[in-house]
Amino acid sequence: MLKTINLHKKYNDFTALKSLNLEIQEGEIFALLGQNGAGKSTTINILLGLIKATSGDAFINNISVKEHPEKIKKHLAYIPETVLLYPNLTGIENLDFFSKIAGFNYDKSELSALLKRTGLQEIAHEKTLGGYSKGMRQKVGIAIALAKDAKVLLLDEPTSGLDPIATAEFTEIVRQLGNEGRTVLMATHDIFNAVSVATNIGIMKQGELVQNLPSKAFSAEELQELYLKTI
Ligand code: ATP
Repeated sequence: MLKTINLHKKYNDFTALKSLNLEIQEGEIFALLGQNGAGKSTTINILLGLIKATSGDAFINNISVKEHPEKIKKHLAYIPETVLLYPNLTGIENLDFFSKIAGFNYDKSELSALLKRTGLQEIAHEKTLGGYSKGMRQKVGIAIALAKDAKVLLLDEPTSGLDPIATAEFTEIVRQLGNEGRTVLMATHDIFNAVSVATNIGIMKQGELVQNLPSKAFSAEELQELYLKTI
């Protein structure tokens, strides 16, 4: 469902990605770990078409990012570390607005049902985003992804700044996305969450994918040990 082939990125003389080969199957949740500057965001930005690879290509559902950046956008949803929405609009209004931009027109009960699927409490649906917590904004972000029926979700640092309850709720939503056959790539520093939610773990170091393993093989402590040895 998501594949990169010899993906290479140079910023002037600096090589940020070195022949990255990544393959994530439908329904897999891939946690990409690595120190600051390892190349995680660069990878996500290339997949999103926000920056161009110097060489190599990425494919979403066998469609080339290089050749069809617009087509790719229909399959992808991006949930950044801070989900930017309109603070003066309610949860329902934000979801309605962004669904329409993606070409979907839902009625109010359908919008509410999408928000409920993410676990956002009904009482919050009609409240303005200005009063939402980070975890609640993230749920609206995931509802937008569900509204456009994105097959692949790219998440950047999804649990950073979430309290343990919000993290547990987020973990449950991501599991559900995988069970629905959606594919998730998440860049994270949260080893505990990676072990608990991901099906596969990758560790990047200086632009290279140096480990690519099924998460079942590890406890959080073992992964932390491997991570520290690797980087
Ligand atoms: P973090 O965990 O801090 O988000 P990351 O793994 O996402 O880090 P990237 O943001 O992909 O890392 O950065 C990879 C490398 O490329 C870093 O050394 C960074 O300084 C460099 N870099 C990123 N964007 C640019 C740019 N626009 N111009 C020059 N160098 C850049």
